[in-house]
This record gives sequence, C-alpha cells and structure tokens, in this order.
Amino acid sequence: MKTSRMAAAKRPRVDLNRAVIFLGPPGSGKGTQAKVLADRYGVPHLSTGDMLREHVSRNTPLGAEAKPIMERGELVPDSLVLKMVAQRIARLDCKRGFVFDGFPRTVAQARYLDDLLERRGFGRPSVIHLVIDPALLLRRLTGRRMCKVGGEIYNIYDRPTKVEGRCDNDGGELVQRPDDREEVVASRLEAYEKQTAPLVAYYRQRGVLHDVDAAKSVEEVGQQVRRSVQPARRGIRRGKVRS
Ligand SMILES: [Zn+2]
Repeated sequence: MKTSRMAAAKRPRVDLNRAVIFLGPPGSGKGTQAKVLADRYGVPHLSTGDMLREHVSRNTPLGAEAKPIMERGELVPDSLVLKMVAQRIARLDCKRGFVFDGFPRTVAQARYLDDLLERRGFGRPSVIHLVIDPALLLRRLTGRRMCKVGGEIYNIYDRPTKVEGRCDNDGGELVQRPDDREEVVASRLEAYEKQTAPLVAYYRQRGVLHDVDAAKSVEEVGQQVRRSVQPARRGIRRGKVRS
C-alpha cells in the first residue's frame, strides 16, 4: 500500500521474499525504518491500524465486524486481526515480501504468523529489534516541544530553538504535549517492555532476531537494518527454505 515507485530505481536486484518484522519502543524510529526498508525493496509496509481503517472504510465483512467494537473504544479481538493479516498477505502485492510495523504484539500472534508464513511458502521472518537505552529514549520523548502556531516539532536537547520556548519560524509558543510528559512516557515505555519481552525471547530462540542499535542516526540505523536482512537470491524457489 505504502510502496514508493520513486525507490524503484535504487531497488536491489534481489527480492526480499520474506516477512520482516520490526520491534521497537515508542521513539525508537520503528515506523520510519520500516517504511524505508519497504520502499527500498518495493514491498508493502503493513500496519494493522491501517488495515483496520481500510476495512472499515470499504465496509468489508471484517470492517463491519470491527466498526462497532472500535466505536466503543474497545480493542479489536485477536481472531479478527489475524483474519485480516491472513487476507492481506495473500494479496498479489505481497508476493515478493512485506514489512510489518506494530505486528505481532504477542507470542500467540507470532506463532500464528509463523504458521501462516510457512503455509504461504515464505519460511521464517527476519525480526529487527531496535534496541535503545531507556534513559536516551526518555530524553528523546520528554524533550519534544511543539509550536502552538505551526505545529513544528523541536527538542530541547537535540533540536533546540534559537530563543528558548519560542518557535524559530513564527515565534509561536512551544508546548509539551500531554503524551510527552515524563510520567506518561515512563509508563508507556514500561508497558512496552512488559508486552514485548516475551516476543523478543520467542524470536531470539527461533534464531531470527537481529538486535540493531537504534541510538544512531536514521541513516546508520538504516544501514544496520539492511545488513540484517539478507534476502534470498532470485530464482530460489520459495518454500524450499525450511525452518
Ligand atoms: Zn511555529
């Protein structure tokens, strides 16, 4: 869906031919890196949030099932999410591989996905685990300030304005969003750790986890990601690689 045609010229000669999964805390640059990799290989960048919204807007059977649940502000059940993922990766644009951003979230989902990938002849996924010091992450997230006028984003530590508390473009007042306050950020990071630790352990044990240092620049992290993802050569029959 979010495939860039512009990236086609720089696309590697080899196909991705697999699922790549990104695991990383809020502020680790997960979404950015997932998109960069998907564009590089010309494969879809898949998020279950986008899939849900698409089903609802197209009023598919799954969308009709999900809509009232979402309207009540409740979490869409796993069974529905998994059905949606199965349908999505069966589409033609996924045949050369795809990148997941924010899925799977639990070991149960990961097991289901492993079976699904096996059945569809993709073999084992590559899992990119973005690792970053929590103290640095806290600084990145709590240092964010937004201009009340133009919405520009600054960071009091990494991208300060010339005049403290004022936007460089329009002199607007800089504010911290409620979500970026230290206590909120700390509890989000804690929740992430708690939820993700079993998933990290599962994929590490499967031998498919690649730890990537996410404290570096976007470009450097991107290079590490590319090195971690070693695509099969063209011509090798899919489904031949057994786990
Ligand atoms: Zn501004």
